Amino acid sequence: MPTIPKSLSAPYSGIYPTVHNMPDQCPLCDRRKEPPSDFCTFHGAALKNLEEAYAIWTKAFDGQLTKEEYYAKVLARSETGRAIRDLINYIRAQGAGG
Ligand SMILES: [Zn+2]
Repeated sequence: MPTIPKSLSAPYSGIYPTVHNMPDQCPLCDRRKEPPSDFCTFHGAALKNLEEAYAIWTKAFDGQLTKEEYYAKVLARSETGRAIRDLINYIRAQGAGG
């Protein structure tokens, strides 16, 4: 089991389950989107961390790690922050995995 980078376990916590429909709003919180990202700077950074860590994990698993498996492993970690969890759940709901 590889060690997850600190960036994934760190400071994303206490985020807000808010319903909203504004097109320029981050789908995960009340902040504004920062185009071309689909997310605000905060969740955009979380996504970047998630993607970078996936590359590291994939290597650690000799390339035998699908994104879905990766997401499951990240979610299974109690120290995974709320922003990352929200992000993964959102990505899964979009069917944009793989
Ligand atoms: Zn956000």
